[in-house]
Amino acid sequence: MSGPLRLVEIAQASDVGRVRPHNEDRSLAELPVIAVADGMGGAKAGEVAAEMAVHAVSAVEAPVSQAGLRAAIEQANRDIRRVAETDPDKAGMGTTLTAATLEDGRLSVLHVGDSRAYLWRDGELRQLTHDHSMVAELVRRGTLSPQEAERHPHRNVITRALGAEAEVQVDTLSQAIQPGDVVLICSDGLSTYVSDADIAATLASAPRLKAAARALVDRANAAGGVDNITVVLARVGGDEAPVSDDGESTAEHPRPPALEGGQTAEMRIVGGVRGRASRAGAEAAAPARAPRVLEPVGRRRSRLRPAVVGIGVLIVALVASVAWIGSRTYVVEASPGGQVRVAHGLPVSLGPLDLSTPWQDTGVPTASVPGEDLGGAHGQGEAVEIAAGLVWRHGLPEVASIVAPPEPRTPPAPDRPEDGAADGGGGAAGDGAAAP
Ligand code: MG
Repeated sequence: MSGPLRLVEIAQASDVGRVRPHNEDRSLAELPVIAVADGMGGAKAGEVAAEMAVHAVSAVEAPVSQAGLRAAIEQANRDIRRVAETDPDKAGMGTTLTAATLEDGRLSVLHVGDSRAYLWRDGELRQLTHDHSMVAELVRRGTLSPQEAERHPHRNVITRALGAEAEVQVDTLSQAIQPGDVVLICSDGLSTYVSDADIAATLASAPRLKAAARALVDRANAAGGVDNITVVLARVGGDEAPVSDDGESTAEHPRPPALEGGQTAEMRIVGGVRGRASRAGAEAAAPARAPRVLEPVGRRRSRLRPAVVGIGVLIVALVASVAWIGSRTYVVEASPGGQVRVAHGLPVSLGPLDLSTPWQDTGVPTASVPGEDLGGAHGQGEAVEIAAGLVWRHGLPEVASIVAPPEPRTPPAPDRPEDGAADGGGGAAGDGAAAP
């Protein structure tokens, strides 16, 4: 072979998977650069971050070098952070990025996050990148075995991402290559769910890279399609004519459209997310997703803190208001014993918690009081007045009408001569007897 080594065949495939509502992966397969970005963030912010990252490396001018790619990635990190800080809908967005190119006959790979680069040579697959993830770090320290890491519930938590820190730390590597080598870059939607052995077998059995990319996506979907799946493949060759992917893929957004002259990435992306359709239903149907970036403790100010403090103040004020109202409220109610009583507090029960306490019993049977006279909140004086009325109307015992007892009849006065002589005769005596 006489000519320099080149990437002579490229292919890409991307699929939303079988669980996620939309695809936040982005890929680039435009010679001489291939790349995969796996975005994260609320709503569609992850797509924006991933697209900004992929666009940044696609815009590096030829001849593309490792230094040029690194500068583009660092600038993308700053751009993503600026958009995230100025657009509340994009707060916290970020993305992985793994990009590769050939430089001086060697493969250059730059990466941030857990989107992987592999080299497939002579039927064997070798992982080139080290995941910037929590479980990968624990495996490196010997805390977790690789087998435990594969099943770890936080295996998708990453420790580095574009957009996470003011300065991004980009890992680079340089790999000697030879004709026939195939470079694979993929998102964790493939590498987490399809084993290296299965990936190698799929590459070996596919006649062309395009078919291989499609088959790898199908494998990940067959394994559950839990995450977005994105695959970019590039074959190293020499003099042969390059073969490019014709663009046919299952990607929801296989790659960012070319920008028009003079238009900046930020202008396009910010403009593109305005008026986004509501995905509330789709988001609700999606399973909860663990945070993708492991944030250093105390290095980022939580945007949630003011909201949490505000909610706490509201709750305290609400409880204080209820307590104040309850301290001034009385209710005339039926006691469990079947009598009317006055209770102090609110006529509300929250499960086993009763917001009132018995204050005065009236002794009036509940059965004798119409229902509309019970319940309702009152001031103390009003409650006492109502209770007293109930006592008066319903609580006093039946009392017979009061009848004056008959006066005993006056016995006839004995004849006394001296009285008769004094009264002037029997007529006076007769009047006295007739008198009541
Ligand atoms: Mg992913």
